[in-house]
Amino acid sequence: MSVGISSLVEHVIRLTQHRDRDRLDSALTEAMMDLLAPQEVTLVGVVSEAGQRYWLPWIRRERGGELQTLSDPLWVQVPQLQRLEDDPHRRHCLESLQPVEISPVAGSTDCLTLVPLFEDAREHGLGVIEIRSAQRLGPAELNMLGRLLSVYRNMQGMLDYSECDALTGLLNRKSFDDAFFKMLRDGSAEPSTPLSAEQVERRHAAAPTYWLAMLDVDHFKQVNDVHGHSIGDEVLLLLARLLKGTLRSLDRVFRFGGEEFVVLLRCPDEAGALSALERFRGRMADYTFPQVGHITVSVGVTALRAGDSPSAARERADQAVYYAKEHGRNQVHSYEQLIARGVLQIDSKVGGVELF
Ligand code: GH3
Ligand code: MG
Ligand code: MG
Repeated sequence: MSVGISSLVEHVIRLTQHRDRDRLDSALTEAMMDLLAPQEVTLVGVVSEAGQRYWLPWIRRERGGELQTLSDPLWVQVPQLQRLEDDPHRRHCLESLQPVEISPVAGSTDCLTLVPLFEDAREHGLGVIEIRSAQRLGPAELNMLGRLLSVYRNMQGMLDYSECDALTGLLNRKSFDDAFFKMLRDGSAEPSTPLSAEQVERRHAAAPTYWLAMLDVDHFKQVNDVHGHSIGDEVLLLLARLLKGTLRSLDRVFRFGGEEFVVLLRCPDEAGALSALERFRGRMADYTFPQVGHITVSVGVTALRAGDSPSAARERADQAVYYAKEHGRNQVHSYEQLIARGVLQIDSKVGGVELF
C-alpha cells in the first residue's frame, strides 16, 4: 500500500501538537487507522498493583467506528484485569520489544500484529498496540509504523522531561495542578471519548472520592548533616521507589520539594486511603536505608471536594502533617478526622468549602 507523504506529515503534525498523554494516544490511534487502514487498532497499557502486572485495554478504533475509551482508569478494578502472563503473545511482544504477528487469528481469517509502544521498559506508558487487519502488514507499512512510533515516543520523552523530577522520576510540582484538576474533572464530567454503558452506570452509581496526601520525611536535615547530601539524595530515590511500589500504578505521586511528596489517590472511602498510606508509613519505618538505617515519614491526608483548589487541599493535608509532626512524627492523620475530633479548627480559607 502506498501512503501519501502529505497524509503522513499531517499525522506527524497532529501527534506533535499535543501536550497531554491521552490526546497523544488518541492521535496515534487515529493515525494508524488512517495510514494502515486496518479493521481495528487497540492500545493496551500495563498497570501494576501489589507487585502484579495486568493488561489495561485502553483505546480502540474500529473501521468505520468512533474512537472508544475501553477502560476508565478512575474506576478500573485492577485485580479483575487479565494478568500479563495470561496473554503470552502480548507478553512476548512487550519483553522482546519486537513486533509479533499472529495470522490468522483464531476463528477468523484476519491477522493480528502486536507492536511494542515503547523501546525500553519505562515506567510511564508500557504497553502494546494490537492491529487487526485483513492482510499481513508488509515491510513498508511496518517501516512507516516504526517512524510514526518514533515521533510518538519522542513526544512521550518530552512529556517525561517536562513533567518528571530528575532525581526520583516521580511527577514534579509543575504538573500537579493539571493532574489535580483532571482528577476532579474526570470524576464529574464526561470523558473526551465515549464510555461503555457499564462504565457510565458505574460512574453514576457512586460518588467518586479522591484523596490528597502530603508526606514529609522526618528529621531529614539530620540525614544530610550526618551522612552528606548525596546519601540524602539516595534516600529520596529509594523512598520514591518504595512509595510507587506501595501505591497503585494509577495513583499519582509527585515530588513537591526537597523531602516532601504529594499523592493523589482514588479510593472509595477514607479507610481505604488511610490504610494505603499507613501501609507505606509502616514499610518506610521497617526499611533499612544503606548507611543511614531507619527513617520515618509523617503523612496528612484530606478528601478532595467539589470546587476544591490545589492550594486549599494541600493546605488541609499540610495541617494534618503538622499535627503528626507535633505529636511524635511517623504517623498518618486525616484532616477531616482531626476536625471531627476537635483537635484542629476549620480555617475558612481551606476548610470552608462544604463537603459533598
Ligand atoms: P521534620 O521532621 O520537622 O520535617 O524535620 P526535617 O529536618 O525533615 O525538616 P525540614 O523540612 O526543616 O528540612 C528539610 C531538609 O531537607 C532541608 C534540607 O537539608 C533537605 N533537603 C531539601 N531538599 C533536598 C534535596 O533535594 N536533597 C537532599 N539530600 N536534601 C534535601
Ligand atoms: Mg519539609
Ligand atoms: Mg521533613
